[in-house]
Amino acid sequence: MGAGGGAGEEERGRVMRPVVCVPCRLFFKPKKLGVTIGEGMPDGIGGWQAYKLWQGDLWACAGCGAEIIRGFGQRAIAEHFQAGYAQAVQACRPLFRVDDC
Ligand SMILES: [Zn+2]
Repeated sequence: MGAGGGAGEEERGRVMRPVVCVPCRLFFKPKKLGVTIGEGMPDGIGGWQAYKLWQGDLWACAGCGAEIIRGFGQRAIAEHFQAGYAQAVQACRPLFRVDDC
């Protein structure tokens, strides 16, 4: 399951539950709405390849500066097999790609 799975549950009804920074004992606050990240998938030969683009919101802790991205939509904004994927990457300028699953 991609990044949208658990986040999609949280987004149901647009209820955004608070997230707490444990070391600082502070709530994370929105820093930038509408950021894009890539999601990679194993390429079968030990590396990673493009898989999906997700849009979410960047939140930060004012205490330590830690940043998280949450609030992903139910669906990826683009997937690797779609004809316009490369153009979507160019247009959305993902911050980075998460190579993890
Ligand atoms: Zn913190």
